[in-house]
Amino acid sequence: MAQRDYYEILGVARDAEADVIKKAYRKLAMQFHPDKNPGDKESEEKFKEAAGAYEILSDPQKRAQYDRFGHQAFSGGRGGGHQGFQDVDDIFSHFGDIFGDFFGGGGAGGARQGRSQNGPRRGSDLRYVTEVSLKDVIFGLEKEIEFDTDENCGECKGTGAEKGTHPDTCQMCNGSGQVVRSQGFFAMASTCPACHGKGTIVKNPCKSCKGKGRKAQHKKIRLNIPPGVDTGTRLRVATEGEGGYMGGPPGDLYVEIRVKPHNNFERRNEDLFAELSVPYVQMLLGAEIEVPTVTGKAKLEIPKGAHAGDNVKLAGEGLPSLKGSRRGDIYFLVNVQFPDKLHKDEEKLLREIAKARGLDVKGEGGLFNRKK
Ligand SMILES: [Zn+2]
Ligand SMILES: [Zn+2]
Repeated sequence: MAQRDYYEILGVARDAEADVIKKAYRKLAMQFHPDKNPGDKESEEKFKEAAGAYEILSDPQKRAQYDRFGHQAFSGGRGGGHQGFQDVDDIFSHFGDIFGDFFGGGGAGGARQGRSQNGPRRGSDLRYVTEVSLKDVIFGLEKEIEFDTDENCGECKGTGAEKGTHPDTCQMCNGSGQVVRSQGFFAMASTCPACHGKGTIVKNPCKSCKGKGRKAQHKKIRLNIPPGVDTGTRLRVATEGEGGYMGGPPGDLYVEIRVKPHNNFERRNEDLFAELSVPYVQMLLGAEIEVPTVTGKAKLEIPKGAHAGDNVKLAGEGLPSLKGSRRGDIYFLVNVQFPDKLHKDEEKLLREIAKARGLDVKGEGGLFNRKK
């Protein structure tokens, strides 16, 4: 099936600003929201389609890739993630923060789960930002990260009630967590003030968690960062997010990558760019010279008669792509390097060249000093 253009899906111009894209997406998400269109497959598809488009266009890196390569940029990639969303819950866990604004959910993943406070519930997704070097981008990296989150209290199984006791059903709402008030023709439901929507009241709080049902958890995990990541790359580590509630599954951990800037190299996708000064004689006659790479040194072929401003390519010494295809290249922008001091013999030879070329030059004597 042919994929529709992301800009077309969101109905925005190709040069639309980020907030225009966000607004357009919110509007579509509201319109096709599964809670508003229960059981409507077409709406659900549209909802997913919009989320897929928004995932790419809301991320400057991915948007740039899409602008350059179209859908091609994300097809056949490893790690999935760009293949569109498989189910609606996936979307909520991705864009929970946006939905939170208008569906009243609490943070990522909260939008849908906010309704039932007392049943099993999935833990929130967590976001972790980590920095890597360009060298790590080439080789990939195994890294240990630590962070704090929380999980169900094992003592009370998340109920908050002391072992051997159990929470009592709230009298005010009969356990529903909501109280209904009649106002004319309308019945208005609101959160029960006595149990705060839990439906239960704890008389003997669990000592281990002080009745909260949750305990702090320090997590230490080994992270596998694959070669080819870029700033903005997001890695999903399933089930390493916040612990689930009342026996619900844990959330996921999303690790966001930042690549540290490099002193010599500037990155453009898989290619690297650097400046290089080359002695004028080598520029004119061509040469093989040693140049720095990210990982060490390599030989670069300066073609005979190279010009200042040429980009000389060092093939295969750039970065790998996440898709695992061949590595990019390094482009050296070459400048001509003239000597600061001219040796006597060198001057003599240059004068002969000038003569041979019929060029009028200044006479001998006087100081030769290049201003820096
Ligand atoms: Zn407890
Ligand atoms: Zn209640």
